[in-house]
Amino acid sequence: MTETSRRGLIVINTGPGKGKTTAALGTALRAAGNGMRVLILQFLKGSWHYGELDAVAALDQALAQTGGPPAGQNIVIRQMGRGFVKVGGAETDPEDLRLVEQAWQDAAEAILSGEWDLVVLDEINYAIGYKMLDAEKVAETLRQKPEMVHVILTGRNAHPTLVELADTVTEMREVKHAYQKGILAQRGIEF
Ligand code: ATP
Ligand code: MG
Repeated sequence: MTETSRRGLIVINTGPGKGKTTAALGTALRAAGNGMRVLILQFLKGSWHYGELDAVAALDQALAQTGGPPAGQNIVIRQMGRGFVKVGGAETDPEDLRLVEQAWQDAAEAILSGEWDLVVLDEINYAIGYKMLDAEKVAETLRQKPEMVHVILTGRNAHPTLVELADTVTEMREVKHAYQKGILAQRGIEF
């Protein structure tokens, strides 16, 4: 049977190829252009300044000025970590754990509030993969989400429980990456 009714989707961008975060940002752009309210929470990220931070802030302002909700309520992006996490058992820095906990609390609250039409949980799959966040806890919140809310989760090695729960799952396959030739991350393409 085909489900044709309008409903919020759970989308996962995973796999080893490049494009997981950029695809999520593209969808966020698309949703915001449709007058939807978009919240992007970036797990683990924090030390780099990504171009999307400024682009999203500018878009949010512009949407507010052209009749959308007030600034800060159209499209918002927040870095919730500090980048470069050390992981593995006792190696995991308690501060990084605390930041992931906080990011998850904010994420769960945002999803359940129904105030946002799309919530992007960028790099959350890494936090789960590193055992900093329990996949079942995430699944439980996704099961309870308001019907119309869309959620996108990114990062390699998506947890099987979340893959099972999701409606749309894309695995990015690496054909080649400039990094392998020793080419460093390029402005505008990687950050
Ligand atoms: P992007 O943010 O470019 O969409 P991504 O979200 O798919 O990348 P992540 O796993 O979040 O990839 O990795 C973040 C960084 O690592 C990005 O700068 C990205 O360009 C780079 N990267 C992604 N895939 C690869 C790869 N296969 N080899 C080397 N570096 C990669
Ligand atoms: Mg990414």
